[in-house]
Amino acid sequence: MTTALISNGGEGVLREHEAYFRFYEELNDFLPPDKLKRSFPYRFNGNPSIKDAIEAIGVPHPEVEMILVNGASVGFEYHLRNYDRVSVYPVFETIDVSPLLKIREKPLRRNAFVLDVHLGKLARMLRMLGFDALYRNDYKDREIIDLAVKEQRVVLTRDRRLLRVKVITHGYWVRSTDPETQAREALRRFDLSSQIKPFHRCMVCNGEIIAIEKSAVLNQLEPLTVRYYDEFYRCVDCNKIYWRGSHYQRMIDRIDRLKANS
Ligand SMILES: [Zn+2]
Repeated sequence: MTTALISNGGEGVLREHEAYFRFYEELNDFLPPDKLKRSFPYRFNGNPSIKDAIEAIGVPHPEVEMILVNGASVGFEYHLRNYDRVSVYPVFETIDVSPLLKIREKPLRRNAFVLDVHLGKLARMLRMLGFDALYRNDYKDREIIDLAVKEQRVVLTRDRRLLRVKVITHGYWVRSTDPETQAREALRRFDLSSQIKPFHRCMVCNGEIIAIEKSAVLNQLEPLTVRYYDEFYRCVDCNKIYWRGSHYQRMIDRIDRLKANS
């Protein structure tokens, strides 16, 4: 451990400090190879907040669930000090650490999402599973940020820079580019498997689906559909009609596959 003295253009000296960081589990996805799964020195001047230091290293703050400095839990507002030993953890899947958490008032347990323009297929899949997933293929970053703040939505994004926006408190950088793998990531990260409710949300527009009388939609159905099905549902927003046809069994199979692998 050394404290180097560096010149400050003749106006005296600035003291450069050093802290030691270690990132755990999937937070390593954001680090260069020389910082993976090991403690490494981080040099700094002045007294930056630990949140700024973590983001300077490359990890977006919404991915972080717990920070220990010299063994004690701290919040994002903690200011880094010389020789601090910092451990940074993502959301824990199996251990309840809530008594230790200093980062957020409370974890966001509202499972409502807003997705960036790269994640249309994931949005449809989340809706298929019954989750509230807002998405448009022309969302501007500003709109996503506003929806996250005003409606307390979790931001799902392929753009890790978006997660650095200060007002976004809950978000997740989707690692995979494959929609099914992405859905499994989301199920795991937000512990959603037990809350899956197929056939509750419109895959097209995210509206809720409600049961309706067959007689109310007779004139909108093909003759074979009228003959073989009696239960119908309608999206309250876009009026799309749903019934449990052959596509329904394929959907259920797909959901079973997702659950089994998450
Ligand atoms: Zn709809």
